[in-house]
Amino acid sequence: MSLTGSFAAALLHDVAVAPTFVRLPRLRTSAGGENGGDKPVFRFGRPRIRAYAASAGRGRASVAVASPLGRRKEGGSSARGCAALSPGSCSDLRQVSAGDFVVVNFYRFVHVENPEEEVAKHLAFLEDLDIHGRIYLNEQGINAQYSGPLADARSYFEWLREDDRFSDILVQISPALSGHAFPKLKVQFKPLVQVDGGIAHLPLLNPSMRATPLEPSEWNKRVEALSRSCDAFSGNVNSDCIILDLRNGYEWDIGHFHGAQRPEVDCFRSTSFGLSETEVNNSDPLADVDKEKTDVLMYCTGGIRCDVYSTILRKKGFKKLYTLKGGVSHYLENEGPVEWIGNLFVFDSRLSLPPASYNPRSTAQTCDLQHAIKKEKFAKCYLCGSVVQELRHRNCANLDCNLLFLCCSDCVSSFRGCCCSTCMTAPRLRPVLPGHQRYKKWHLYRDLEKQPS
Ligand SMILES: [Zn+2]
Ligand SMILES: [Zn+2]
Repeated sequence: MSLTGSFAAALLHDVAVAPTFVRLPRLRTSAGGENGGDKPVFRFGRPRIRAYAASAGRGRASVAVASPLGRRKEGGSSARGCAALSPGSCSDLRQVSAGDFVVVNFYRFVHVENPEEEVAKHLAFLEDLDIHGRIYLNEQGINAQYSGPLADARSYFEWLREDDRFSDILVQISPALSGHAFPKLKVQFKPLVQVDGGIAHLPLLNPSMRATPLEPSEWNKRVEALSRSCDAFSGNVNSDCIILDLRNGYEWDIGHFHGAQRPEVDCFRSTSFGLSETEVNNSDPLADVDKEKTDVLMYCTGGIRCDVYSTILRKKGFKKLYTLKGGVSHYLENEGPVEWIGNLFVFDSRLSLPPASYNPRSTAQTCDLQHAIKKEKFAKCYLCGSVVQELRHRNCANLDCNLLFLCCSDCVSSFRGCCCSTCMTAPRLRPVLPGHQRYKKWHLYRDLEKQPS
C-alpha cells in the first residue's frame, strides 16, 4: 500500500511544522576549568542545551484503515516495524507506505470553548493509534508534533480536519529516520508555546495583530532581493528590511537564511528582540530601527514562534511585520534551499534534517555549502571552533550532563563524546555514538558495564 500520485502530492503540499518548545537551561556561564586539558578551548556563546536521549520507537507497526471520526481498524503486524526512510530525499516520502514512520507537525490558533474536554476527545481518538509526540490544546488552539506510521499519523489529522475549526490546518509531514521521533505521547491542556509572561494575554486569534504571512515564493523573492543588498550581510540595522531569525542560536548554528544574524538566545521563552529599552544593543537586530518603516521578515521552523512573537512586536509598535508561512520546513519543501544554507534543526530525536528531506531539488546546495560555511562563520565545533563535517548536534556522553552540542570529529574522539573534560570523568558515562544515533535508556549502558569483559 504505497503512497503515490495525487495523495502524495496532496500530502506534501497540503500539509506547517510547529516547532516544539523544550525548556532549555541558560548558557553555562562559568569561565574556566570545564574544558581543561590539552585542547585549546574556543568559546563563543556555547549554548547549554539539554534535550533528548529519546529512545527509538518500538514500532508497533500498523496497517490502519482510516475511518473518519471513528476508530480505525487495526490489521497490524510487526512486519514493517521501524521502517526507516532515507534522510536523503523527499522523493522517498512519495513512496511512503502505510506502515512507514513519519513526523507530522501542525498548529492552529482558534478559540476552543472547552479545551479540557477537547483534550479528552483527542486522547480517546488516539487511544488505538500508534502515535508518539506532544499535542497541546488550550483556549487559543492546538500545537501538535508527533510521529507514527503514516496510516495512523494521517488518521489523526484527517479526523481533526473534519472539525470546521481545524479544517484548514497546514499539516507538514517529513520522514522519520528510525521509528518514533518522540519517546511517548502527551496530550495536554497547556499553553501552545512558552514565552516569558505567558501567551494567554496575547491577541493570537486576531490575524491583523499577527505578522502578514508570506507564501514561500514571495519570501524567496524578498530574501533574494535583500541578499543583493550589502546591508543585509553587514547586518546593518539601518536597512529598511531585516531578516529576523526567531529561533535559538544553536539552531542557527547548523543552518539559516543568508543575511540572518545569529540570535543570541538559547530558549525561545527568553527571546527579547525589539524589546530593549536602550538603542545600542548589538545582539538585537531590532534595536534602533524605525518601527513604522522597517520591514521585518521573521522566520522560524514551522511558523508558530513568529506568529506568537509578532503579536508582541505589534504591541510594541512595529508596523511592517511579515512571516514565512509554514516556516522553514514549508519553504524548503516548496522552494528548495534557495538562500538557505545548511540543515534545519528539528525538536525531535532526528535533531537535524538536510533540505533534501523536504525537497529532492535540494542536492544542488551541497556544492555551495563549504563556501557558505566559511563565509558566514557557522557550523563550528563548540569545543575547538573548527568547522564540523556533520551539521547535527550530539548529546554529551555524560548522562548527568546530556548537553546538546556541536562537535567536530577530532573533539568527539579526544573528549570521548563529552562536552568538556570534567564530563569525561563523570560516573555515568555512556559510549560514544555515531552522530546520527541517539542515546537510549541508561540501564542499557549501565548493564553493559557490569558484563565481564
Ligand atoms: Zn572540535
Ligand atoms: Zn557534558
